[in-house]
Order: sequence, then structure tokens, then C-alpha cells
Amino acid sequence: MDATLADRLDALLPQTQCTRCGYAGCRPYAIAMATGEAAPNRCPPGGPSTLANLAATLGVTATPLDPSCGEFLPPRVAIIDESVCIGCAKCLPACPVDAIIGARKLLHTVIASECNGCELCIAPCPVDCIRLEPTGAPPRSAEVLASEAQHHRNRQENHDRRREQREQQRALALAERAARWRADHSTEAEPT
Ligand code: SF4
Ligand code: SF4
Ligand code: SF4
Repeated sequence: MDATLADRLDALLPQTQCTRCGYAGCRPYAIAMATGEAAPNRCPPGGPSTLANLAATLGVTATPLDPSCGEFLPPRVAIIDESVCIGCAKCLPACPVDAIIGARKLLHTVIASECNGCELCIAPCPVDCIRLEPTGAPPRSAEVLASEAQHHRNRQENHDRRREQREQQRALALAERAARWRADHSTEAEPT
């Protein structure tokens, strides 16, 4: 695989990580395009300009958005119905850009300016209290999309870093608990 080509394709993608392309995120889709596995017409959030830029980068003719990936939509934002939210916090880890604030057993809300409309928070919500609504903003130009993509990328990298730190802390805590248990029970196992 041409790593540079994958990098260039990834740089053109909106970085919402919405998975509508059928891949686990923007980077996996970029790799699939670079290896010839995927066509450059599978990214609804990118809009027509992104599809055209992807095709040009690959040196192929642009084709219309694959309808199996959805449709081009205006900018949207998630809204939580706070009268229904039960504070379960299941939406928090699902948000790739940490646009939801709240804590367990407390109401949750969306930071509208950070939400990229990916919809990834909707499925985990057990009470269906999250919906997407148009922001009313006009379709983004290629320049605005690129600037937003960089912002989403930064926030997603921070999200991934925090998740890794939490996992490491959890693994450390488990290891310490296991070590304490072994120390407490070591004499019991010794023959008398
Ligand atoms: S923004 Fe486009 S490339 Fe990225 S995950 Fe969504 S559909 Fe795929
Ligand atoms: S709040 Fe929901 S729709 Fe908005 S970025 Fe986070 S997961 Fe995506
Ligand atoms: S998943 Fe739904 S119910 Fe749970 S905290 Fe998020 S919005 Fe509230």
C-alpha cells in the first residue's frame, strides 16, 4: 500500500468518524481507497467537493455518492432531551470528539459547537433521547470542511489518548488488586 496516498486521502476526509462509508472511521476508509478496495464515493459528510477531491487524488473520474452510504445532509447537531435522559453515561464513550458532557446519574448535554453530527451517540442511548437536528447553517465550503476536519482530528486524538490512559489505569488497578489478593492468600496455599 502507498502510505503517502492513504495520508493524502485521509487529509481530505471530514474526520467525523461516522462510519457511514462502511469502514470503522475516516482513516480505515482512506486506507481502503489507497489499496483499491473502496471507491471514492462513500463519504456523505464530505459532500460533493470531497468526493471530487478524492477521485482527483486517485486519478479516477468522480462518481455520484453511493446510495448505500446514505445521502448528503445539511450540517446537523445532536440534542439530548433532558426530560428523558437517565444519566446512564453510555453516550459519553461513543462520542469521538467528546462533545457530550455529564456524569453518571446526572443529566447529559451536547456542546453544540463541538458536535460533528456523526450520530454515534444515538445507538448506545437506552431511552432514545438523542436526536439530530439541522443547525440551519449553509452547506460547508471545502475550506470550512478542511478546517473543521483538522479540529475534529485534534479532538479525536485527545479522546483516544484519554481512553488509553483510562484503560491503562484500569489495568494497573486490576493488577494491584490481584497482587494484593495473592499476597493475602499466599500463606494459605503453603503446605504446613
Ligand atoms: S466522515 Fe466520511 S470517511 Fe469519515 S467515517 Fe464518515 S463516511 Fe467515513
Ligand atoms: S454528540 Fe453525538 S452526534 Fe455529536 S459528535 Fe458526539 S457522538 Fe457525534
Ligand atoms: S445515553 Fe441517553 S440516557 Fe444515557 S446519559 Fe446519554 S443521553 Fe442520557
